[in-house]
Amino acid sequence: MRLLILGASGAGKGTQAQAIAKHFGIRHISTGDFLREEIKPNTALCRAVKRLIDRGDLVPDELMLSIVHEILEGDDFILDGFPRTFAQALALDEICEKLGCPIDMALNIHVPDDDIIQRITGRKVCPNGKAMFHIIFYPPKEAFMCDHCGGVLEQRPDDTASTVRHRLRIYHERTLPIIDFYHRQGFLISTGGTGDVAEITQNLIDLLNAKLLVAKLEKEMQKGIRR
Ligand SMILES: [Zn+2]
Repeated sequence: MRLLILGASGAGKGTQAQAIAKHFGIRHISTGDFLREEIKPNTALCRAVKRLIDRGDLVPDELMLSIVHEILEGDDFILDGFPRTFAQALALDEICEKLGCPIDMALNIHVPDDDIIQRITGRKVCPNGKAMFHIIFYPPKEAFMCDHCGGVLEQRPDDTASTVRHRLRIYHERTLPIIDFYHRQGFLISTGGTGDVAEITQNLIDLLNAKLLVAKLEKEMQKGIRR
């Protein structure tokens, strides 16, 4: 099964993608994590990409496409962080067709902008790993300290209020049209992302199973008609 997960940055895409990947036993591919890891080496390109991300801007389509091409394989996955523009969605269709791995379903999580701003600006990360905390929602046991390693928690440069607002503006302008694109093709599942994390996951899984069942029945009916 090949899935996409859509939603503004801060809607809980990463958390939900991880839970869904675990539930179905598929790979979780996060282009954000990939970029953050790849941009550590100190090359000119890496610095340029880092500047874009830190400002809340999008990485150019061409570069994103070459990255996605590299990390997408034919097996089962949930892709998180891509596509972000209509052009990327069209290109992804082409890549998947070429690789013979069409996307089965796009999952969309929608959260009001104000909630997103509160979520992201309160986020604190451990400098030694991927551990993440939130000053309101998942505070560390000791203020400013990672529960696992005692490292001093920091805010990512791309998590400030002005960067989040900038990212939301870009999201509304450039990413929202993708949701309509998948909706018109009949493979979009949409759910609210506010509330209990486990309930949202279960909701997505139920919607996904129902939609996959309908798609399977439709396919069988069409086969029957052709016979
Ligand atoms: Zn830590």
